[in-house]
Amino acid sequence: MRSSKTHGDSLVRCEARILGLVQGVGFRPFVARLARELGLAGSVINDGTGVFVDVEGPPQRVEEFFRRLKPEAPPLSRISSVERQSVLPVGHKSFGVKESLSPALRFALISPDVATCGECLSEMRTSSDRRHRYPFINCTNCGPRFTIVTDIPYDRVRTTMREFPMCDACAAEYANDADRRFHAEPTACPACGPSVRLVTRSGADVPGEPVARAVELLKEDAVVAVKGLGGYHLACNASSPLAVSTLRKRKCREEKPLAIMVRDLAAARSICLVSEAEECLLTGVQRPIVLLRKRRDVSAACGTADGPAATVAGATPEARTADVLAAGMSIAEDVAPNNKYLGVMLPYTPLHHLLLERLPALVMTSGNLTEEPISYVDGEAEVRLGAIADYFLVHDREIFTRCDDSVVRIVRGKLQPVRRSRGYVPNPIPLPFTGTPVLAVGGELKNTFCLVKGDLAFPGHHIGDLKNLEAYDAFRHGIEHLKKLLFVEPQAVACDMHPDYLSTRYALESGLPVTLVQHHHAHIASCMAENGLTEKVIGLSFDGTGYGPDNTVWGGEILVADYTGYDRVAHLAAVPLPGGEAAINEPWRMAVSHLHSVLGDALPSVKTPLFERVGKDKLQVIVRMMERGVNSIPTSSLGRLFDAVAALVGLRDYVSFEGQAAMELEMVAADEPCGEPYPYRILEPGQGRNGDRGRGWAPVAPGARVLDFGAMVLRIAEDAAAGTPVPAISRRFHETLCRAFVDACCALRAERSINDVCMSGGVFQNALLSTILGESLERERFKVYVHTQVPPNDGGLALGQAAVACHVAPGTKGGRGVECRQPRGETPPAHEERR
Ligand code: ZN
Ligand code: ZN
Ligand code: FE
Repeated sequence: MRSSKTHGDSLVRCEARILGLVQGVGFRPFVARLARELGLAGSVINDGTGVFVDVEGPPQRVEEFFRRLKPEAPPLSRISSVERQSVLPVGHKSFGVKESLSPALRFALISPDVATCGECLSEMRTSSDRRHRYPFINCTNCGPRFTIVTDIPYDRVRTTMREFPMCDACAAEYANDADRRFHAEPTACPACGPSVRLVTRSGADVPGEPVARAVELLKEDAVVAVKGLGGYHLACNASSPLAVSTLRKRKCREEKPLAIMVRDLAAARSICLVSEAEECLLTGVQRPIVLLRKRRDVSAACGTADGPAATVAGATPEARTADVLAAGMSIAEDVAPNNKYLGVMLPYTPLHHLLLERLPALVMTSGNLTEEPISYVDGEAEVRLGAIADYFLVHDREIFTRCDDSVVRIVRGKLQPVRRSRGYVPNPIPLPFTGTPVLAVGGELKNTFCLVKGDLAFPGHHIGDLKNLEAYDAFRHGIEHLKKLLFVEPQAVACDMHPDYLSTRYALESGLPVTLVQHHHAHIASCMAENGLTEKVIGLSFDGTGYGPDNTVWGGEILVADYTGYDRVAHLAAVPLPGGEAAINEPWRMAVSHLHSVLGDALPSVKTPLFERVGKDKLQVIVRMMERGVNSIPTSSLGRLFDAVAALVGLRDYVSFEGQAAMELEMVAADEPCGEPYPYRILEPGQGRNGDRGRGWAPVAPGARVLDFGAMVLRIAEDAAAGTPVPAISRRFHETLCRAFVDACCALRAERSINDVCMSGGVFQNALLSTILGESLERERFKVYVHTQVPPNDGGLALGQAAVACHVAPGTKGGRGVECRQPRGETPPAHEERR
């Protein structure tokens, strides 16, 4: 160490407050090491809002200290600001790390949970280490955080680790500011920390070493519930078709893809194509599930690992039903049937690493019944999962907040979140404005909520479909907990306009002033907020379903929007949604609806195998339903147009999960070369009419263009009947949509001089559409903005609601809607069925 008092040097002293993610990430030991290395004296302390540093020494060394602070900070930390001021030197003798100040001053960012670090892993694998094969090894650079924190400031007594008093050896490391485990709050060892047990459904201990026994049972095709970081997983051997089908049957999950966990990057590469960007995601500390292209679906001729490949080879059903066979590892086809992608993650807890040592790949799907939130409480999990799992690999470290795995993918070289939860929550998203404290409660599907504090938005963890009591409880508790961690009391609440969403009811009953935000406006505001935009944009807001203030179902909307409002400047021609919810589960209904909207009474003239599959009787019922306007709300949904096309080409008449038909339509076209667009029309303002010939009447937004795909639907029906290959039809369908959207954007730019386009809504999870549309818009010199921080689907809705609520004065009880700035259109005739 250099002397702190170089001869002839005068001393300076600086105080600095460092804000950002600087607690629980090894920041104080880092500051101490750096200061001592430079021969500076003073102290560092967690002060509730961040870290407070007091350094004293020769001027150039103090400067060097501040220069190196950011670039050399610990890997998990994120410095948002350093405020420093000069103060009078006092002659500090040494540099010390001090205890936390009183909890009165408390607001510091809590870290998300972090995957096991390399140093901990190598200790776990060293036979002489006292934590050899210990499933709970962690340090300041890794381990549980958000899921075990009960309150702030972050200290062991305010985590679920308070139940485990440290042994002398652990306590010594914890107190040593030169140790990697200095103030590692969840630190533990076999002598003092949590332990694992393997039990049967009835709770009886299974004899033997729990992890080794669990692996043996998994190899024998058992389903094992594994307690993890943020909840229970249901695990089975991913290579065994029998194990996978058993799990599917018991979980009542017919076809929705299951995520897998593989041993390491090499194992991932043996079954999937992994680009550099995907490798970063797979191995990053967040350890999300990464959607990767299955290896065997791409022929050798395709060459590159990313981007749409240029051939259709491998897309045949035979190729799809074959198992992945590479490097001796196979993945049962049933893991992700009819899908060119696999959801893959690498181990992120020591327990995972131990399990995967002896099995190359496990299915690791959320431990829940369909639609319910993930199980995380011991006892309760055994009851809920008892009919699914044969065994339970459990431990006694309590999970305080459940947190599902995050799901991400790479689209056009950028990260696209599909689900933002473990590893990312509760990290904030910087906003381009400072707002009053607002709570946004999100939508109904894929619910998340969001809190705004100052110029930061804090999206909460994934709650799931807010349709049952379990989810509603998780939602309410999640909100209270995050409020406590962020030390924030919302002054207003924002929600969707849909009167029947549980989240809307929660908002209206909260007693706070409410802002009602239109669904597709919220999608666009969300994309704007995460991209730091404040000026008006053209918003392409495409999804399956969102409540329209004209009492129709929206979903194919082009808006000109900012945070204070929107104009609905173009939308898809509305068609009836025959049977409401049933039309979402049965794409054939949408095919009939779209055909009927073009043909009316001439419907029987179209020759399509669809009618034979459906049968005359059912067809007649649906047509009559639409003609009489019974249970046939008009919809401009783009998601439903995907459904219609999927049914028309014979891909899928019924779906077993949301978005399935659209996903399969995307998959078949993924490797198809670009095709000619089908005919379409854009009807100018005033010209517009909706396509339906029945009585399911819908107003055209005043001044809006109508995108009419009727001619395309007819041509697709003809092509399908003539036996044109489905991949070619699907690719041309995608091409047609993109051409129409680009045309509409160009027309809008000419009128409004807006060049920024935001793409949001669940439809943009379609990587093919996102890619073609993004590229086409950029060719026309539009500046295109997409989601890279929150999902484009309804999981990103809360951020947009929050951003809108920060810009409009909230209404009083009962809510105020942020509506169209356009004059109201004609009022639709009253239909009893239409609420
Ligand atoms: Zn570690
Ligand atoms: Zn210990
Ligand atoms: Fe949506």
